[in-house]
Amino acid sequence: MTRTVDAVVVGGGPSGATAAHELARRGRSVLLLDRAGRIKPCGGAIPPRLIQDFGIPDRLLCARITSARMVSPSSRGVDMPVGDGFVGMVNRDVFDEWLRERAAGCGAERIAGRFLSVGRDPDGTAVVSFQRNGVAKSEAPEQVRARVVIGADGAISAVAEQCIPGADRIRHVFAYHEIIRAPAEGFDGQRCDVYYQGKLSPDFYGWVFPHGDTASVGSGSARKGFSLRKSVGDLRAAAGLTDAETIRREGAPIPMKPLRRWDNGRDVVLAGDAAGVVAPASGEGIYYAMEGGRLAGDAADLFLTTGDAKALRTARRRFMRAHGTVFRILGIMQWFWYSSDKRRERFVSICADPDVQRLTWDSYMNKKLTRKDPMAHVRIFLKDVAHLLGLVSA
Ligand SMILES: Cc1cc2nc3c(=O)[nH]c(=O)nc-3n(C[C@H](O)[C@H](O)[C@H](O)COP(=O)(O)OP(=O)(O)OC[C@H]3O[C@@H](n4cnc5c(N)ncnc54)[C@H](O)[C@@H]3O)c2cc1C
Repeated sequence: MTRTVDAVVVGGGPSGATAAHELARRGRSVLLLDRAGRIKPCGGAIPPRLIQDFGIPDRLLCARITSARMVSPSSRGVDMPVGDGFVGMVNRDVFDEWLRERAAGCGAERIAGRFLSVGRDPDGTAVVSFQRNGVAKSEAPEQVRARVVIGADGAISAVAEQCIPGADRIRHVFAYHEIIRAPAEGFDGQRCDVYYQGKLSPDFYGWVFPHGDTASVGSGSARKGFSLRKSVGDLRAAAGLTDAETIRREGAPIPMKPLRRWDNGRDVVLAGDAAGVVAPASGEGIYYAMEGGRLAGDAADLFLTTGDAKALRTARRRFMRAHGTVFRILGIMQWFWYSSDKRRERFVSICADPDVQRLTWDSYMNKKLTRKDPMAHVRIFLKDVAHLLGLVSA
Protein backbone atom coordinates (compact mmCIF):
# COMPACT_ATOMS: atom_id res chain seq x y z
CA MET A 1 0.00 0.00 0.00
CA THR A 2 1.34 3.42 -0.95
CA ARG A 3 1.00 5.76 2.03
CA THR A 4 -0.97 9.01 1.83
CA VAL A 5 0.11 12.39 3.21
CA ASP A 6 -1.73 15.71 3.30
CA ALA A 7 0.97 17.50 1.32
CA VAL A 8 4.14 16.78 -0.61
CA VAL A 9 6.29 19.90 -0.95
CA VAL A 10 8.79 19.54 -3.79
CA GLY A 11 11.87 21.71 -3.18
CA GLY A 12 13.37 22.81 0.11
CA GLY A 13 14.55 26.33 -0.77
CA PRO A 14 13.01 29.41 0.90
CA SER A 15 9.58 28.89 -0.74
CA GLY A 16 9.26 25.14 -0.13
CA ALA A 17 10.68 25.19 3.40
CA THR A 18 8.29 28.04 4.31
CA ALA A 19 5.26 26.26 2.79
CA ALA A 20 6.19 23.04 4.63
CA HIS A 21 6.61 24.95 7.90
CA GLU A 22 3.23 26.67 7.43
CA LEU A 23 1.41 23.36 6.90
CA ALA A 24 3.30 21.30 9.49
CA ARG A 25 2.74 23.81 12.28
CA ARG A 26 -1.00 23.48 11.63
CA GLY A 27 -0.76 19.75 12.17
CA ARG A 28 -0.86 18.65 8.51
CA SER A 29 1.22 15.63 7.51
CA VAL A 30 3.92 17.01 5.19
CA LEU A 31 6.70 15.42 3.21
CA LEU A 32 9.43 17.89 2.24
CA LEU A 33 11.37 16.53 -0.71
CA ASP A 34 14.64 18.24 -1.66
CA ARG A 35 17.37 16.86 -3.87
CA ALA A 36 20.05 18.48 -1.65
CA GLY A 37 23.80 18.53 -2.27
CA ARG A 38 24.00 21.90 -4.07
CA ILE A 39 24.21 25.39 -2.62
CA LYS A 40 21.75 27.69 -4.41
CA PRO A 41 23.73 30.36 -6.30
CA CYS A 42 22.50 33.62 -4.75
CA GLY A 43 23.67 37.07 -3.66
CA GLY A 44 21.86 36.43 -0.38
CA ALA A 45 20.51 39.97 0.26
CA ILE A 46 17.36 40.03 2.40
CA PRO A 47 15.22 42.96 3.62
CA PRO A 48 14.30 43.64 7.28
CA ARG A 49 10.64 42.85 6.50
CA LEU A 50 11.70 39.24 5.76
CA ILE A 51 13.75 39.01 8.95
CA GLN A 52 10.75 40.25 10.94
CA ASP A 53 7.91 38.40 9.21
CA PHE A 54 9.67 35.06 9.14
CA GLY A 55 11.43 35.21 12.50
CA ILE A 56 15.00 34.93 11.18
CA PRO A 57 17.52 34.88 14.05
CA ASP A 58 20.45 37.33 14.01
CA ARG A 59 23.02 34.54 13.94
CA LEU A 60 21.99 33.66 10.36
CA LEU A 61 23.16 37.07 9.11
CA CYS A 62 26.74 36.99 7.84
CA ALA A 63 26.80 40.77 7.14
CA ARG A 64 24.71 43.89 7.69
CA ILE A 65 24.74 46.34 4.83
CA THR A 66 24.35 50.03 5.61
CA SER A 67 24.77 51.58 2.15
CA ALA A 68 24.74 50.84 -1.58
CA ARG A 69 27.04 52.39 -4.15
CA MET A 70 25.47 52.76 -7.60
CA VAL A 71 28.15 52.86 -10.32
CA SER A 72 27.32 54.45 -13.69
CA PRO A 73 28.74 53.68 -17.16
CA SER A 74 31.24 56.55 -16.72
CA SER A 75 32.25 54.95 -13.37
CA ARG A 76 30.62 57.70 -11.34
CA GLY A 77 29.71 56.30 -7.91
CA VAL A 78 26.61 57.50 -6.06
CA ASP A 79 26.27 56.33 -2.46
CA MET A 80 22.83 55.56 -1.04
CA PRO A 81 23.02 55.23 2.76
CA VAL A 82 20.30 52.95 4.12
CA GLY A 83 19.47 55.34 6.96
CA ASP A 84 17.80 53.56 9.85
CA GLY A 85 18.30 49.81 9.72
CA PHE A 86 20.28 47.57 7.39
CA VAL A 87 20.03 45.01 4.61
CA GLY A 88 20.82 41.50 5.84
CA MET A 89 23.11 39.05 4.07
CA VAL A 90 22.73 35.30 4.35
CA ASN A 91 24.75 32.35 3.11
CA ARG A 92 22.22 30.11 1.43
CA ASP A 93 23.68 26.79 2.58
CA VAL A 94 23.18 27.84 6.22
CA PHE A 95 19.94 29.81 5.68
CA ASP A 96 18.06 27.17 3.64
CA GLU A 97 19.09 24.34 5.98
CA TRP A 98 17.82 26.34 8.97
CA LEU A 99 14.47 26.88 7.23
CA ARG A 100 14.15 23.16 6.41
CA GLU A 101 15.03 22.21 9.97
CA ARG A 102 12.45 24.64 11.32
CA ALA A 103 9.81 22.89 9.18
CA ALA A 104 11.07 19.50 10.42
CA GLY A 105 10.88 20.78 14.00
CA CYS A 106 7.15 21.29 13.47
CA GLY A 107 6.73 17.76 12.18
CA ALA A 108 7.49 17.90 8.43
CA GLU A 109 9.26 14.75 7.24
CA ARG A 110 12.41 15.56 5.26
CA ILE A 111 13.51 13.37 2.39
CA ALA A 112 16.67 13.96 0.38
CA GLY A 113 15.80 12.86 -3.10
CA ARG A 114 14.88 13.88 -6.63
CA PHE A 115 11.30 14.52 -7.71
CA LEU A 116 10.42 12.57 -10.85
CA SER A 117 6.72 12.92 -11.62
CA VAL A 118 3.16 13.49 -10.49
CA GLY A 119 0.94 10.60 -11.57
CA ARG A 120 -2.60 9.57 -10.64
CA ASP A 121 -4.07 6.68 -8.69
CA PRO A 122 -7.24 5.07 -10.09
CA ASP A 123 -9.22 7.13 -7.56
CA GLY A 124 -7.66 10.34 -8.96
CA THR A 125 -5.32 11.09 -6.02
CA ALA A 126 -1.92 12.58 -6.97
CA VAL A 127 0.98 10.13 -6.69
CA VAL A 128 4.43 11.70 -6.39
CA SER A 129 7.34 9.57 -7.61
CA PHE A 130 10.87 10.29 -6.43
CA GLN A 131 14.32 8.73 -6.17
CA ARG A 132 16.04 8.94 -2.80
CA ASN A 133 19.64 10.21 -2.82
CA GLY A 134 22.09 7.33 -2.70
CA VAL A 135 19.64 4.82 -4.20
CA ALA A 136 20.70 3.36 -7.58
CA LYS A 137 18.81 4.69 -10.59
CA SER A 138 18.05 1.09 -11.55
CA GLU A 139 15.91 0.74 -8.40
CA ALA A 140 12.19 1.44 -8.78
CA PRO A 141 11.29 5.00 -7.70
CA GLU A 142 9.42 5.45 -4.40
CA GLN A 143 5.88 6.74 -4.45
CA VAL A 144 3.66 8.64 -2.04
CA ARG A 145 0.02 9.68 -2.42
CA ALA A 146 -0.59 13.38 -1.76
CA ARG A 147 -3.85 15.24 -1.18
CA VAL A 148 -2.05 18.36 -2.36
CA VAL A 149 1.31 18.98 -4.04
CA ILE A 150 3.27 22.22 -3.70
CA GLY A 151 5.78 22.81 -6.50
CA ALA A 152 8.61 24.87 -4.99
CA ASP A 153 11.41 23.36 -7.05
CA GLY A 154 12.84 26.64 -8.33
CA ALA A 155 13.22 28.16 -11.79
CA ILE A 156 12.62 25.63 -14.61
CA SER A 157 10.41 23.67 -12.24
CA ALA A 158 9.64 20.07 -13.17
CA VAL A 159 6.38 20.23 -11.19
CA ALA A 160 5.26 23.34 -13.11
CA GLU A 161 6.28 21.84 -16.43
CA GLN A 162 4.29 18.64 -15.75
CA CYS A 163 1.21 20.14 -14.10
CA ILE A 164 0.64 23.78 -15.09
CA PRO A 165 -0.26 24.66 -18.68
CA GLY A 166 1.91 27.46 -20.10
CA ALA A 167 4.65 27.12 -17.46
CA ASP A 168 7.17 25.98 -20.07
CA ARG A 169 6.97 29.38 -21.82
CA ILE A 170 8.40 31.33 -18.88
CA ARG A 171 11.44 33.53 -19.77
CA HIS A 172 14.60 33.82 -17.68
CA VAL A 173 17.56 36.04 -16.94
CA PHE A 174 20.68 33.94 -16.35
CA ALA A 175 22.74 35.06 -13.35
CA TYR A 176 26.30 34.02 -12.58
CA HIS A 177 28.52 34.87 -9.62
CA GLU A 178 31.85 34.07 -8.08
CA ILE A 179 32.26 33.66 -4.34
CA ILE A 180 35.57 35.20 -3.39
CA ARG A 181 37.54 35.61 -0.20
CA ALA A 182 36.93 39.20 0.95
CA PRO A 183 40.21 41.19 0.99
CA ALA A 184 41.33 42.00 4.54
CA GLU A 185 42.10 45.62 3.56
CA GLY A 186 40.50 48.21 1.30
CA PHE A 187 37.18 46.38 1.11
CA ASP A 188 34.02 47.80 2.68
CA GLY A 189 32.15 44.87 4.25
CA GLN A 190 29.05 46.99 4.89
CA ARG A 191 28.50 48.36 1.39
CA CYS A 192 26.90 46.71 -1.66
CA ASP A 193 28.18 47.92 -5.04
CA VAL A 194 25.80 47.82 -7.99
CA TYR A 195 27.21 48.39 -11.47
CA TYR A 196 24.91 49.77 -14.15
CA GLN A 197 27.16 49.44 -17.19
CA GLY A 198 26.14 47.99 -20.56
CA LYS A 199 29.49 46.23 -20.94
CA LEU A 200 28.89 44.34 -17.66
CA SER A 201 25.24 43.61 -18.43
CA PRO A 202 23.22 44.81 -21.42
CA ASP A 203 19.88 44.37 -19.60
CA PHE A 204 20.51 43.83 -15.86
CA TYR A 205 23.37 44.82 -13.53
CA GLY A 206 26.57 43.62 -11.92
CA TRP A 207 27.07 43.43 -8.15
CA VAL A 208 29.56 43.06 -5.32
CA PHE A 209 27.77 41.88 -2.14
CA PRO A 210 29.84 41.42 1.05
CA HIS A 211 29.24 38.26 3.11
CA GLY A 212 31.58 38.67 6.06
CA ASP A 213 34.81 36.90 5.17
CA THR A 214 33.58 36.21 1.62
CA ALA A 215 31.74 38.20 -1.08
CA SER A 216 29.50 37.48 -4.06
CA VAL A 217 30.56 39.16 -7.31
CA GLY A 218 28.08 38.59 -10.11
CA SER A 219 26.14 39.69 -13.13
CA GLY A 220 23.02 38.68 -15.03
CA SER A 221 21.55 38.90 -18.51
CA ALA A 222 18.76 37.45 -20.60
CA ARG A 223 20.79 38.04 -23.75
CA LYS A 224 21.89 34.84 -25.48
CA GLY A 225 25.60 34.74 -26.24
CA PHE A 226 26.53 37.41 -23.66
CA SER A 227 29.48 36.07 -21.66
CA LEU A 228 28.72 36.40 -17.94
CA ARG A 229 32.09 34.88 -17.04
CA LYS A 230 33.89 37.61 -18.94
CA SER A 231 31.58 40.21 -17.45
CA VAL A 232 32.34 39.05 -13.89
CA GLY A 233 36.07 38.99 -14.72
CA ASP A 234 35.79 42.62 -15.91
CA LEU A 235 33.73 43.54 -12.85
CA ARG A 236 36.34 42.04 -10.53
CA ALA A 237 39.02 44.05 -12.33
CA ALA A 238 36.96 47.27 -12.01
CA ALA A 239 36.40 46.62 -8.30
CA GLY A 240 40.06 45.72 -7.64
CA LEU A 241 39.12 42.11 -6.80
CA THR A 242 40.98 40.21 -9.53
CA ASP A 243 43.57 38.79 -7.15
CA ALA A 244 41.11 37.76 -4.43
CA GLU A 245 40.91 33.97 -3.97
CA THR A 246 37.96 32.43 -5.88
CA ILE A 247 36.05 29.93 -3.72
CA ARG A 248 33.16 28.94 -6.04
CA ARG A 249 31.88 29.77 -9.53
CA GLU A 250 28.20 29.11 -10.16
CA GLY A 251 25.10 30.35 -11.90
CA ALA A 252 21.37 29.79 -12.21
CA PRO A 253 18.35 31.11 -14.08
CA ILE A 254 16.07 33.77 -12.57
CA PRO A 255 12.46 33.90 -13.85
CA MET A 256 11.40 37.23 -15.34
CA LYS A 257 7.64 37.28 -14.79
CA PRO A 258 5.03 35.64 -12.56
CA LEU A 259 3.13 32.85 -14.31
CA ARG A 260 -0.50 33.56 -15.15
CA ARG A 261 -1.55 30.40 -13.31
CA TRP A 262 0.00 28.86 -10.23
CA ASP A 263 -2.39 25.96 -9.76
CA ASN A 264 -3.82 23.15 -11.87
CA GLY A 265 -7.42 23.67 -10.70
CA ARG A 266 -7.23 20.34 -8.89
CA ASP A 267 -4.50 19.71 -6.30
CA VAL A 268 -1.18 21.29 -7.35
CA VAL A 269 0.00 24.84 -6.53
CA LEU A 270 3.34 26.55 -7.18
CA ALA A 271 5.47 28.90 -5.04
CA GLY A 272 8.61 31.01 -5.42
CA ASP A 273 10.79 30.83 -8.54
CA ALA A 274 8.64 27.94 -9.80
CA ALA A 275 5.75 30.44 -10.00
CA GLY A 276 8.03 33.07 -11.57
CA VAL A 277 8.03 35.50 -8.66
CA VAL A 278 11.31 37.38 -8.70
CA ALA A 279 11.15 41.18 -8.71
CA PRO A 280 12.12 42.66 -12.10
CA ALA A 281 14.98 45.20 -12.14
CA SER A 282 16.41 44.02 -8.79
CA GLY A 283 16.26 40.21 -9.16
CA GLU A 284 15.15 40.00 -5.54
CA GLY A 285 13.52 36.62 -4.98
CA ILE A 286 14.07 35.32 -1.43
CA TYR A 287 11.43 37.47 0.27
CA TYR A 288 8.92 36.83 -2.52
CA ALA A 289 9.66 33.09 -2.43
CA MET A 290 8.95 32.97 1.31
CA GLU A 291 5.83 35.10 0.96
CA GLY A 292 4.70 32.83 -1.90
CA GLY A 293 5.48 29.76 0.20
CA ARG A 294 3.43 31.09 3.06
CA LEU A 295 0.48 31.88 0.75
CA ALA A 296 0.74 28.49 -0.99
CA GLY A 297 0.73 26.86 2.48
CA ASP A 298 -2.37 28.88 3.43
CA ALA A 299 -4.10 28.00 0.16
CA ALA A 300 -3.26 24.29 0.52
CA ASP A 301 -4.53 24.28 4.10
CA LEU A 302 -7.82 25.86 3.03
CA PHE A 303 -8.12 23.31 0.21
CA LEU A 304 -7.47 20.42 2.62
CA THR A 305 -10.19 21.77 4.92
CA THR A 306 -12.84 22.55 2.30
CA GLY A 307 -11.99 20.19 -0.58
CA ASP A 308 -12.68 23.13 -2.89
CA ALA A 309 -9.90 23.40 -5.50
CA LYS A 310 -10.70 27.11 -5.99
CA ALA A 311 -8.91 27.67 -2.67
CA LEU A 312 -5.60 27.04 -4.45
CA ARG A 313 -6.11 30.13 -6.58
CA THR A 314 -5.98 32.35 -3.50
CA ALA A 315 -2.18 31.99 -3.39
CA ARG A 316 -1.64 33.90 -6.63
CA ARG A 317 -4.54 36.31 -6.03
CA ARG A 318 -3.29 37.36 -2.59
CA PHE A 319 0.32 37.63 -3.78
CA MET A 320 -0.49 39.82 -6.79
CA ARG A 321 -2.80 42.01 -4.73
CA ALA A 322 0.06 42.75 -2.34
CA HIS A 323 2.98 42.93 -4.80
CA GLY A 324 1.60 43.13 -8.36
CA THR A 325 1.92 46.94 -8.61
CA VAL A 326 5.54 46.92 -7.41
CA PHE A 327 6.36 44.17 -9.93
CA ARG A 328 4.77 46.20 -12.74
CA ILE A 329 6.65 49.39 -11.79
CA LEU A 330 9.97 47.53 -11.51
CA GLY A 331 9.32 45.86 -14.88
CA ILE A 332 8.86 49.26 -16.54
CA MET A 333 11.97 50.60 -14.76
CA GLN A 334 14.09 47.71 -16.02
CA TRP A 335 12.79 48.06 -19.55
CA PHE A 336 13.38 51.82 -19.58
CA TRP A 337 16.48 52.53 -17.48
CA TYR A 338 18.55 49.44 -18.36
CA SER A 339 18.25 49.88 -22.11
CA SER A 340 21.23 52.12 -22.94
CA ASP A 341 24.29 53.56 -21.23
CA LYS A 342 22.88 57.06 -21.68
CA ARG A 343 19.82 56.11 -19.65
CA ARG A 344 21.90 54.19 -17.07
CA GLU A 345 24.00 57.32 -16.54
CA ARG A 346 20.83 59.33 -15.85
CA PHE A 347 19.41 56.58 -13.65
CA VAL A 348 22.50 56.67 -11.40
CA SER A 349 22.25 60.49 -11.31
CA ILE A 350 18.67 60.25 -10.12
CA CYS A 351 19.83 57.93 -7.32
CA ALA A 352 21.74 60.88 -5.81
CA ASP A 353 18.40 62.51 -5.00
CA PRO A 354 17.49 62.28 -1.27
CA ASP A 355 13.77 61.74 -2.10
CA VAL A 356 14.64 58.85 -4.43
CA GLN A 357 16.95 57.33 -1.81
CA ARG A 358 14.36 57.52 0.94
CA LEU A 359 11.51 56.09 -1.13
CA THR A 360 13.70 53.36 -2.63
CA TRP A 361 14.94 52.13 0.74
CA ASP A 362 11.50 52.47 2.30
CA SER A 363 9.90 50.34 -0.42
CA TYR A 364 12.70 47.77 -0.37
CA MET A 365 12.89 47.45 3.42
CA ASN A 366 9.16 47.29 4.08
CA LYS A 367 7.84 45.80 0.83
CA LYS A 368 5.15 48.43 0.57
CA LEU A 369 4.85 51.38 -1.76
CA THR A 370 5.38 54.18 0.67
CA ARG A 371 2.51 56.66 0.86
CA LYS A 372 3.86 58.63 3.81
CA ASP A 373 5.10 61.57 1.74
CA PRO A 374 2.99 62.13 -1.39
CA MET A 375 4.92 65.32 -2.28
CA ALA A 376 8.13 63.30 -2.55
CA HIS A 377 6.50 61.28 -5.38
CA VAL A 378 5.58 64.51 -7.15
CA ARG A 379 9.11 65.89 -6.74
CA ILE A 380 10.61 62.65 -8.10
CA PHE A 381 8.21 62.67 -11.03
CA LEU A 382 9.18 66.24 -11.95
CA LYS A 383 12.89 65.47 -11.59
CA ASP A 384 12.47 62.32 -13.73
CA VAL A 385 10.80 64.35 -16.46
CA ALA A 386 13.58 66.97 -16.29
CA HIS A 387 16.17 64.19 -16.69
CA LEU A 388 14.31 62.58 -19.55
CA LEU A 389 14.03 65.85 -21.41
CA GLY A 390 17.73 66.49 -20.81
CA LEU A 391 16.96 69.70 -18.87
CA VAL A 392 19.51 68.67 -16.23
CA SER A 393 22.89 67.16 -17.00
CA ALA A 394 23.69 63.59 -16.01
C1 LIG B 1 23.14 34.43 -8.94
C2 LIG B 1 21.85 34.80 -8.22
C3 LIG B 1 21.85 35.80 -7.28
C4 LIG B 1 20.67 36.11 -6.58
N1 LIG B 1 20.73 37.06 -5.60
C5 LIG B 1 19.63 37.31 -4.85
C6 LIG B 1 19.69 38.21 -3.75
O1 LIG B 1 20.73 38.78 -3.42
N2 LIG B 1 18.55 38.43 -3.03
C7 LIG B 1 17.37 37.82 -3.35
O2 LIG B 1 16.36 38.07 -2.66
N3 LIG B 1 17.29 36.95 -4.38
C8 LIG B 1 18.38 36.66 -5.12
N4 LIG B 1 18.32 35.75 -6.14
C9 LIG B 1 17.04 35.05 -6.39
C10 LIG B 1 16.80 33.96 -5.33
O3 LIG B 1 17.94 33.16 -5.20
C11 LIG B 1 15.59 33.09 -5.70
O4 LIG B 1 14.52 33.89 -6.10
C12 LIG B 1 15.16 32.20 -4.53
O5 LIG B 1 16.18 31.30 -4.20
C13 LIG B 1 13.90 31.42 -4.87
O6 LIG B 1 13.61 30.50 -3.85
P1 LIG B 1 12.80 29.15 -4.18
O7 LIG B 1 12.66 28.42 -2.91
O8 LIG B 1 11.58 29.46 -4.95
O9 LIG B 1 13.74 28.35 -5.19
P2 LIG B 1 15.21 27.78 -4.93
O10 LIG B 1 15.93 28.59 -3.95
O11 LIG B 1 15.82 27.62 -6.29
O12 LIG B 1 14.95 26.36 -4.28
C14 LIG B 1 14.47 25.29 -5.06
C15 LIG B 1 14.79 24.01 -4.30
O13 LIG B 1 14.21 22.94 -5.05
C16 LIG B 1 15.10 21.85 -5.06
N5 LIG B 1 14.82 21.09 -6.30
C17 LIG B 1 14.87 21.52 -7.58
N6 LIG B 1 14.53 20.52 -8.42
C18 LIG B 1 14.24 19.45 -7.63
C19 LIG B 1 13.82 18.10 -7.90
N7 LIG B 1 13.63 17.66 -9.17
N8 LIG B 1 13.65 17.27 -6.87
C20 LIG B 1 13.84 17.68 -5.58
N9 LIG B 1 14.22 18.94 -5.26
C21 LIG B 1 14.42 19.81 -6.28
C22 LIG B 1 16.50 22.48 -5.07
O14 LIG B 1 17.42 21.59 -4.46
C23 LIG B 1 16.28 23.73 -4.19
O15 LIG B 1 16.59 23.49 -2.83
C24 LIG B 1 19.47 35.42 -6.87
C25 LIG B 1 19.48 34.41 -7.83
C26 LIG B 1 20.63 34.09 -8.50
C27 LIG B 1 20.63 32.99 -9.52
